[in-house]
Amino acid sequence: MSKTHVARRRFGQNFLCDPNIIQAIINVISPASDETIVEIGPGQGALTRPLLAAAGRLIALEIDRDLARDLTREFADADKFELHETDALKFNLVELGAQPLRVVGNLPYNISTPLLFHLLVARRIISDMTFMLQQEVVDRMVAVPGSKEYGRLSVMMQYHCHVERLMTVPPSAFRPKPKVMSSIVRLQPKPETGKLSVQKETQLAYIVKAAFSARRKTIRNNLRDVLSVEQIAQAGIDPGIRAEQLAVGEFIALLDQLPN
Ligand code: SAM
Repeated sequence: MSKTHVARRRFGQNFLCDPNIIQAIINVISPASDETIVEIGPGQGALTRPLLAAAGRLIALEIDRDLARDLTREFADADKFELHETDALKFNLVELGAQPLRVVGNLPYNISTPLLFHLLVARRIISDMTFMLQQEVVDRMVAVPGSKEYGRLSVMMQYHCHVERLMTVPPSAFRPKPKVMSSIVRLQPKPETGKLSVQKETQLAYIVKAAFSARRKTIRNNLRDVLSVEQIAQAGIDPGIRAEQLAVGEFIALLDQLPN
């Protein structure tokens, strides 16, 4: 591995350097020899090495050309290692032709939310995802209705996946140190949401986005272009409340008011 690599901020590079934390992450992932693991952003290989030792196949997606070159060199003899020098935001996991996939990574924090939404699209072929993320993002992913962290990310992630925070990691575990605390989160796609039609999926994304578009406004106001006051009431919901008070199931009740 090149000793001279200077961490690139534009790629959200904070490399794990604490062996205890690295081992703890591997323990929670618990890779097995019959599994295909996709690692997003392998970087300098801190997680890649122990993952590769245990997994049946490891597919790594790395955007940084220099790091991709170093990893390709280091693992040149490992048949079960495959590296794609690519932008994970544009990479379609379905094209790998393998499933089920376990997706893991210490994600670049600057693109974590769009990356999570991108991965949701491929959730039918994913058995689980374990990610290191900025703690504040995980707070939003696991938030409950009524809390200030509860929003679009909470509803969309919790609708599609079981979401669980596993551990919290301090800045000292990384080089360079990030300014924020980090958390490890596990997402397990719910099989039943894989059956939602593309149209319903689009409608759900639209309703949730619109409902939270102005947090202080009522859903009657925010959903004005999508649902009438009567339809909201028909779903058993008070049109005068705000989106942050709606449980995930209530968003589905609203969705049910729209034609298929
Ligand atoms: N896994 C390594 C570790 O734990 O030390 C590196 C983690 S670092 C936080 C994020 C990694 O993701 C970097 O290697 C970075 O180059 C890579 N990365 C950033 N943006 C990416 C993207 N759009 N697609 C793929 N990899 C990306």
